[in-house]
Amino acid sequence: MSDLRYRYMSREKAGLKRPKAVRAADHNGHQCFHWSASDITERTSRQRAHDKAKEPQKPGIKWYRLWRNPATDPITRANISRKIRSYNKAKRKHNKAFESDPRVLDKLDKKAASIWRSFQASHFARNYADIGYSEGHFAHGLVIEGRGYGVHCAASGPRANYMFNSVNVMGPGDKVTSEMMNSNAIRSTTLNVGLTLDQRHGHNDYMPTACPGPSNRATFLTEAWTKFLASFRK
Ligand SMILES: [Zn+2]
Repeated sequence: MSDLRYRYMSREKAGLKRPKAVRAADHNGHQCFHWSASDITERTSRQRAHDKAKEPQKPGIKWYRLWRNPATDPITRANISRKIRSYNKAKRKHNKAFESDPRVLDKLDKKAASIWRSFQASHFARNYADIGYSEGHFAHGLVIEGRGYGVHCAASGPRANYMFNSVNVMGPGDKVTSEMMNSNAIRSTTLNVGLTLDQRHGHNDYMPTACPGPSNRATFLTEAWTKFLASFRK
């Protein structure tokens, strides 16, 4: 995680409706994790096509071996060296392509916002005061504002309701992406939430549910993660 960053979308920008009620609450840094599988987090078909088109062909291991072999003649060596250089260049370009294509990100963000609105609609339908989640972390690196922090949660659980703020992480299946890890590291440390293991909770600590899934649990609800957050804050 050499390159920590995330993008942020306010609830207004995401098109959420106004909450039915807002009541202040102090969550004392406690955070409850939720997970919703979302195909946004898988690359879109256009994104996949885009990646596939640009994925450079890796020179075979045989080439590297030949190149390192002192017995290889200079002409072969020069050819291989040129191929490897051009591969490295193409690979760097390819790695950048995802983030450097604003149209792809824009499309994913719009989809994320529509998912977020549908959550709010389904929570309103259950008579919640608002979307149940404080914020959402999408797998392509977008953080969307939900209920927000420092207010009584909108969900119906009596205990977690006032004790925790909540984050919904949305990956392909319950897969964790490096973008989600970046978002979580920055949001936790800048908002001072979930900094210790006893401040980090999973939905199924309190309810019989699969949420937040084994991968999220194995990543975010561990001592290793709180240690990482502590080192990251220094
Ligand atoms: Zn949940």
